[in-house]
Amino acid sequence: MSLLDVKNLQVSYGGIQAVKGIDFSIAKGELVTLIGANGAGKTTTLRTLVGMVKRSGGSIAFDGQDTAGIASYDFVRHGLVMVPEGRGIFGKLTVEENLLMGAYIRDDKAQIQVEMERVYELFPRLKERQRQLAGTLSGGEQQMVAMGRAMLSRPKLLLLDEPSMGLAPIIVQKIFEIIQMVAAEGVTMLLVEQNAKLALEISQRGYVMESGRITMEGEAASLLSDERVRNAYLGS
Ligand code: ATP
Repeated sequence: MSLLDVKNLQVSYGGIQAVKGIDFSIAKGELVTLIGANGAGKTTTLRTLVGMVKRSGGSIAFDGQDTAGIASYDFVRHGLVMVPEGRGIFGKLTVEENLLMGAYIRDDKAQIQVEMERVYELFPRLKERQRQLAGTLSGGEQQMVAMGRAMLSRPKLLLLDEPSMGLAPIIVQKIFEIIQMVAAEGVTMLLVEQNAKLALEISQRGYVMESGRITMEGEAASLLSDERVRNAYLGS
């Protein structure tokens, strides 16, 4: 059974339909990439999955339950967590305080400490900077905080919106390594990326979205070698 099963999802802003009836699914443990041009509807899709935007039609089954029954503040508790574009970290709080925000729904203090240490093992850079204000971190370090914070909320499905956005190429490589490390921890992920090549290279499957519709889907390796994908999204 899929962890996430989306059927005929439609989303409109006023009279304009941004998502025009899409179907996709994600199995437990998978890393899946959604690619597409600017304005294709990728961010809208992620926001709808976490209840920030209301769907106008279709169904979203998460862990066997339709998410229509989940209040917008309750998605994190259900394990559906998004790291938004721009990362959404708190600049005036320290690295440590930001990470702890991820665990705000939990009260198992001892276990949170264990998992904090695990995050610091994954991102030694953050351990060195525990007390630094997050607003003064580099873009790559802020992305590490955003990922670490999301992990502390124990997601069943982590949605990443453009994690490499605005980062220098060498840091982009690092972010993709981090995504792979998080995937190796067993976290299921849906990744939205402009950097289609790197994203597909670390994913099992992918979907291509164009003007609110899914136009292609398949194994990441076959999308990478598909001529239409190469011409439109891989710059070759
Ligand atoms: P990008 O890669 O540029 O972020 P995207 O694929 O994530 O693009 P969306 O941000 O989902 O695309 O936008 C899809 C369409 O919906 C666009 O035409 C956009 O202008 C429109 N849209 C997005 N958010 C809103 C909003 N809050 N109100 C009205 N229209 C919106």
